[in-house]
Amino acid sequence: MELLLDVDGVLADYTGHLCYKYLPNRHPREFTTFNLSMHLTWEETQMWERARVEEGFCKSIPWYPGAHEFLCDLQARFNELMIVTARDTRAPHWVGERDAWLFAEGIKHNQIIYCPTDKKYLVSGDILIEDNVTTCNAWAARHTRGHALLIERPHNAGYPVVEGVVRVKAYQDAIDFLDSLASIKSENVGPASTLRSI
Ligand SMILES: [Mg+2]
Repeated sequence: MELLLDVDGVLADYTGHLCYKYLPNRHPREFTTFNLSMHLTWEETQMWERARVEEGFCKSIPWYPGAHEFLCDLQARFNELMIVTARDTRAPHWVGERDAWLFAEGIKHNQIIYCPTDKKYLVSGDILIEDNVTTCNAWAARHTRGHALLIERPHNAGYPVVEGVVRVKAYQDAIDFLDSLASIKSENVGPASTLRSI
Protein backbone atom coordinates (compact mmCIF):
# COMPACT_ATOMS: atom_id res chain seq x y z
CA MET A 1 0.00 0.00 0.00
CA GLU A 2 1.03 3.55 -0.68
CA LEU A 3 0.92 5.99 2.21
CA LEU A 4 0.70 9.77 1.87
CA LEU A 5 1.78 11.45 5.09
CA ASP A 6 1.32 15.07 6.04
CA VAL A 7 3.79 16.76 8.41
CA ASP A 8 2.49 19.94 10.07
CA GLY A 9 -0.34 19.09 12.42
CA VAL A 10 0.42 15.37 12.11
CA LEU A 11 4.08 14.98 13.11
CA ALA A 12 5.17 18.59 13.63
CA ASP A 13 3.46 20.82 16.17
CA TYR A 14 3.33 24.06 14.15
CA THR A 15 0.64 25.68 16.27
CA GLY A 16 2.37 24.70 19.48
CA HIS A 17 5.64 26.10 18.19
CA LEU A 18 3.98 29.40 17.43
CA CYS A 19 2.33 29.56 20.83
CA TYR A 20 5.14 28.33 23.05
CA LYS A 21 7.93 30.31 21.40
CA TYR A 22 6.28 33.46 20.05
CA LEU A 23 2.80 33.88 21.56
CA PRO A 24 3.18 32.79 25.18
CA ASN A 25 -0.28 34.01 26.11
CA ARG A 26 -1.91 31.64 23.67
CA HIS A 27 -2.47 27.88 23.74
CA PRO A 28 -2.98 25.50 20.77
CA ARG A 29 -6.40 24.41 22.07
CA GLU A 30 -7.66 27.95 21.36
CA PHE A 31 -7.16 27.41 17.62
CA THR A 32 -10.37 25.69 16.63
CA THR A 33 -10.22 26.33 12.88
CA PHE A 34 -7.47 25.50 10.40
CA ASN A 35 -6.96 29.16 9.55
CA LEU A 36 -4.57 30.43 12.20
CA SER A 37 -4.99 34.06 11.26
CA MET A 38 -8.68 33.93 12.20
CA HIS A 39 -7.63 33.53 15.82
CA LEU A 40 -4.84 36.11 15.97
CA THR A 41 -4.99 39.77 16.81
CA TRP A 42 -3.31 42.23 14.45
CA GLU A 43 -0.28 42.38 16.73
CA GLU A 44 -0.08 38.59 16.94
CA THR A 45 -0.38 38.33 13.18
CA GLN A 46 2.56 40.69 12.79
CA MET A 47 4.57 38.55 15.21
CA TRP A 48 3.69 35.42 13.23
CA GLU A 49 4.61 37.05 9.93
CA ARG A 50 8.03 37.98 11.31
CA ALA A 51 8.61 34.61 12.94
CA ARG A 52 7.76 32.40 9.98
CA VAL A 53 10.39 33.96 7.69
CA GLU A 54 13.18 33.68 10.26
CA GLU A 55 15.99 31.27 9.57
CA GLY A 56 15.51 28.32 11.92
CA PHE A 57 11.72 28.67 12.31
CA CYS A 58 10.85 25.53 10.36
CA LYS A 59 13.82 23.59 11.67
CA SER A 60 12.83 24.21 15.27
CA ILE A 61 9.18 23.13 15.02
CA PRO A 62 8.88 20.40 17.66
CA TRP A 63 7.57 16.90 17.18
CA TYR A 64 4.32 16.04 18.90
CA PRO A 65 4.83 13.59 21.76
CA GLY A 66 4.94 10.13 20.24
CA ALA A 67 5.36 11.38 16.68
CA HIS A 68 8.86 9.95 16.26
CA GLU A 69 7.61 6.52 17.20
CA PHE A 70 4.57 6.94 14.97
CA LEU A 71 6.77 7.70 11.97
CA CYS A 72 8.95 4.68 12.77
CA ASP A 73 5.85 2.49 12.97
CA LEU A 74 4.69 3.77 9.59
CA GLN A 75 8.12 3.31 8.01
CA ALA A 76 8.10 -0.29 9.19
CA ARG A 77 4.72 -0.92 7.57
CA PHE A 78 4.87 0.90 4.24
CA ASN A 79 7.39 0.35 1.46
CA GLU A 80 5.90 3.33 -0.33
CA LEU A 81 5.73 6.19 2.15
CA MET A 82 5.46 9.62 0.62
CA ILE A 83 5.59 12.83 2.58
CA VAL A 84 3.02 15.25 1.15
CA THR A 85 3.43 18.62 2.77
CA ALA A 86 2.78 22.23 1.94
CA ARG A 87 5.70 24.62 2.01
CA ASP A 88 5.42 28.10 3.43
CA THR A 89 6.01 30.01 0.22
CA ARG A 90 6.85 33.20 2.10
CA ALA A 91 9.54 31.51 4.19
CA PRO A 92 12.85 31.44 2.29
CA HIS A 93 14.39 28.75 4.49
CA TRP A 94 11.38 26.47 4.67
CA VAL A 95 12.21 23.76 2.13
CA GLY A 96 15.85 23.32 3.10
CA GLU A 97 14.99 23.14 6.78
CA ARG A 98 12.06 20.78 6.29
CA ASP A 99 14.17 18.53 4.07
CA ALA A 100 16.83 18.34 6.80
CA TRP A 101 14.15 17.71 9.44
CA LEU A 102 12.92 14.73 7.43
CA PHE A 103 16.30 13.43 6.26
CA ALA A 104 17.28 13.07 9.92
CA GLU A 105 14.46 10.52 10.23
CA GLY A 106 15.58 8.47 7.25
CA ILE A 107 13.19 10.03 4.75
CA LYS A 108 14.79 10.24 1.30
CA HIS A 109 14.64 13.15 -1.09
CA ASN A 110 12.48 11.16 -3.50
CA GLN A 111 9.90 10.58 -0.76
CA ILE A 112 8.99 14.25 -0.37
CA ILE A 113 6.28 16.02 -2.36
CA TYR A 114 5.82 19.72 -1.65
CA CYS A 115 2.23 20.37 -2.55
CA PRO A 116 -0.10 23.32 -1.85
CA THR A 117 -2.74 22.44 0.71
CA ASP A 118 -5.60 23.00 -1.74
CA LYS A 119 -4.05 20.61 -4.29
CA LYS A 120 -3.25 17.66 -2.03
CA TYR A 121 -6.47 15.94 -3.02
CA LEU A 122 -4.92 15.37 -6.45
CA VAL A 123 -2.10 13.17 -5.09
CA SER A 124 -2.89 9.47 -5.46
CA GLY A 125 -2.26 6.77 -2.87
CA ASP A 126 -4.03 4.17 -0.78
CA ILE A 127 -3.90 5.98 2.55
CA LEU A 128 -3.70 9.65 3.47
CA ILE A 129 -2.83 10.78 7.00
CA GLU A 130 -3.73 14.44 7.50
CA ASP A 131 -4.91 16.98 10.04
CA ASN A 132 -6.77 19.26 7.63
CA VAL A 133 -10.39 18.14 7.49
CA THR A 134 -11.05 19.93 4.21
CA THR A 135 -8.13 18.12 2.58
CA CYS A 136 -9.24 14.76 4.02
CA ASN A 137 -12.76 15.19 2.74
CA ALA A 138 -11.67 16.31 -0.73
CA TRP A 139 -9.10 13.52 -1.02
CA ALA A 140 -11.55 10.82 0.13
CA ALA A 141 -14.19 12.05 -2.29
CA ARG A 142 -11.73 11.77 -5.19
CA HIS A 143 -9.97 8.53 -4.16
CA THR A 144 -12.96 6.37 -3.45
CA ARG A 145 -10.91 3.20 -2.91
CA GLY A 146 -8.63 4.89 -0.41
CA HIS A 147 -8.81 5.78 3.27
CA ALA A 148 -8.08 9.19 4.75
CA LEU A 149 -7.08 9.21 8.41
CA LEU A 150 -7.78 12.51 10.13
CA ILE A 151 -5.52 13.00 13.13
CA GLU A 152 -7.74 14.82 15.61
CA ARG A 153 -6.51 18.25 16.67
CA PRO A 154 -8.36 21.22 18.18
CA HIS A 155 -8.61 22.83 14.74
CA ASN A 156 -10.52 19.92 13.21
CA ALA A 157 -12.42 18.49 16.16
CA GLY A 158 -15.72 20.18 15.40
CA TYR A 159 -16.01 19.44 11.71
CA PRO A 160 -17.88 16.63 9.94
CA VAL A 161 -16.09 14.12 7.75
CA VAL A 162 -17.31 12.36 4.61
CA GLU A 163 -17.34 8.64 3.82
CA GLY A 164 -13.82 7.36 3.50
CA VAL A 165 -12.42 9.55 6.28
CA VAL A 166 -11.57 7.94 9.62
CA ARG A 167 -11.06 10.26 12.56
CA VAL A 168 -8.35 9.03 14.94
CA LYS A 169 -7.65 10.54 18.33
CA ALA A 170 -4.24 8.96 18.90
CA TYR A 171 -1.37 7.63 16.82
CA GLN A 172 -2.00 4.12 18.10
CA ASP A 173 -5.57 4.31 16.80
CA ALA A 174 -4.15 5.03 13.34
CA ILE A 175 -1.73 2.12 13.58
CA ASP A 176 -4.50 -0.21 14.77
CA PHE A 177 -6.70 0.84 11.85
CA LEU A 178 -3.90 0.36 9.33
CA ASP A 179 -3.05 -3.05 10.74
CA SER A 180 -6.68 -4.14 10.56
CA LEU A 181 -6.85 -2.91 6.99
CA ALA A 182 -3.68 -4.74 6.01
CA SER A 183 -4.77 -7.99 7.61
CA ILE A 184 -8.14 -7.89 5.89
CA LYS A 185 -6.55 -7.09 2.54
CA SER A 186 -4.10 -9.94 2.95
CA GLU A 187 -7.01 -12.29 3.36
CA ASN A 188 -8.36 -11.19 -0.04
CA VAL A 189 -11.85 -10.70 1.26
CA GLY A 190 -12.80 -8.25 -1.42
CA PRO A 191 -11.97 -5.07 -3.28
CA ALA A 192 -10.65 -2.10 -1.36
CA SER A 193 -13.89 -0.23 -1.90
CA THR A 194 -15.69 -2.64 0.40
CA LEU A 195 -13.19 -2.12 3.17
CA ARG A 196 -14.32 1.37 3.95
CA SER A 197 -16.96 0.03 6.22
CA ILE A 198 -14.47 -1.17 8.83
MG1 LIG B 1 -1.12 19.49 8.11
